[in-house]
Amino acid sequence: MAKQTSQTPGKVESSSSNSLIPLSRPWIGPEEKAAVIEVLESGMLVQGPRVRALEDAFARLVGVRHAIATSSGTTALHLAMLAHNLGPGDEVITTPFTFIASVNSIMYTGAKPVFADIEETTFNIDPAKLEAAITPRTRAVMPVHLYGQPCDMDEICSVARRHGLVVLEDAAQAVGATYHDRQVGSFGTAIFSLYATKNIMSGEGGVITTDDDGVADRARLLRNHGMRDRYRYETLGYNFRLTDVMAAIGVVQFQRLGEATRIRRSNAATLSAALKNVTIPVVKEGREHVWHQYTVRLEKGTDRAAVVKQLQEAGIGTGVFYPLGAHRFPHIREVIGDVEMPITDRVAETVLSLPVHPLLSAGDLERIVAAVNRL
Ligand SMILES: *Cc1c(COP(=O)(O)O)cnc(C)c1O
Repeated sequence: MAKQTSQTPGKVESSSSNSLIPLSRPWIGPEEKAAVIEVLESGMLVQGPRVRALEDAFARLVGVRHAIATSSGTTALHLAMLAHNLGPGDEVITTPFTFIASVNSIMYTGAKPVFADIEETTFNIDPAKLEAAITPRTRAVMPVHLYGQPCDMDEICSVARRHGLVVLEDAAQAVGATYHDRQVGSFGTAIFSLYATKNIMSGEGGVITTDDDGVADRARLLRNHGMRDRYRYETLGYNFRLTDVMAAIGVVQFQRLGEATRIRRSNAATLSAALKNVTIPVVKEGREHVWHQYTVRLEKGTDRAAVVKQLQEAGIGTGVFYPLGAHRFPHIREVIGDVEMPITDRVAETVLSLPVHPLLSAGDLERIVAAVNRL
């Protein structure tokens, strides 16, 4: 891979003591720029060869028969639900501690989200709480591999099998993560996001992966207006297509995935070895985390806004994912009622994400550690 870019990881100009280290930064080299120009000059802008190349790359990585590219992770989720015929009267069990798109996508179809609270150590859905959330209407379970750490897939899949539920993984943050050497996205139907801040990105974009021929066929049909033959609409469809311009960026990013993930892992290990004053993230046995976010917990009662401000003044960008569980929002409470998710509430109050992206220099990591250890 060419390395003449100024954004080569580890070789970034050491940032001066007052410049901000951003929480995330897309790794864009000359290859992405060239790939975009090539598409623009080809005149084939939508659903062309780069979309197919991106789909092939995902299918190969995940080890499934089908990958279907979409315009975003959110439309991938929506389309995956529709492809499984989820709709009014159905219930989908998921975690309240996630990006809102996981939950909204269930509601787009008219199905009802049902929450199972999370495990305090990993922030992922607690499989021990699944069984209690199941009703005769339950059709699917949607684990979200939060921050890039795989959920307890053996336990989740075993509950799903017992009750005949579809497993729909939200792997938006977890491309390349493995659970006992098995890639996330391979346990049922899954989605990935290529949004600008994700581990690999195309600006906007999403991908569905599945081994189910029927689901893949329906997803492809609905992605493009329910149209197999031009202007013969078989059903109510949508425009969830990805452009070749975006896909071309994604294809190049895919070639960086291995290296970018290795650097994220190394950055996370450096932080975990050196940080004091905060609870470092827990990785369960048998998981290869991909560190979309490196998320610590502050002691209960800490003024998080003050910590964010202090780190900001030290030039460290941070993020809070997520300040409130999905069960807290009015448009969701309207559907789910007054449910309580005490662990999500407790975790949401105390999480803080620090920069871990592959463009951090050794000096950046030292500055992050020094600033956190001064808290
Ligand atoms: C980013 C994200 C999505 C949605 O992806 P978009 O590409 O932004 O639409 C869904 N779920 C989770 C957990 C995400 O992090």
